[in-house]
Amino acid sequence: MSRHHIAQKWTTHAPKLREKWTALLPRPCLACGQPVTKGDRWHVGHIIAAEDGGKPTMQNTAPVHAHCNLSDGGKRGAARVNAARRAVAARDQAESGRRSWR
Ligand SMILES: [Zn+2]
Repeated sequence: MSRHHIAQKWTTHAPKLREKWTALLPRPCLACGQPVTKGDRWHVGHIIAAEDGGKPTMQNTAPVHAHCNLSDGGKRGAARVNAARRAVAARDQAESGRRSWR
């Protein structure tokens, strides 16, 4: 299976993840950090890309605004990686409620 096909397979799992994330909104956008609400157009974004071995799990995904996801254009640059790390840090902070990440 090529790397391309792995990415294709991942998308087939996204609808169920989307249902789960919808129940958890609002959540920070994976790309810009602003809240994604049920009134927004949004996609299920992945923190570790499928082609890098990321799994289609709640732990490896987060909501991302449609415009943020589309503007990414499939490129995986430093900005995207940093945004993903901030999203994970924010999630950790929300759970611990004590660690500053700014
Ligand atoms: Zn966004």
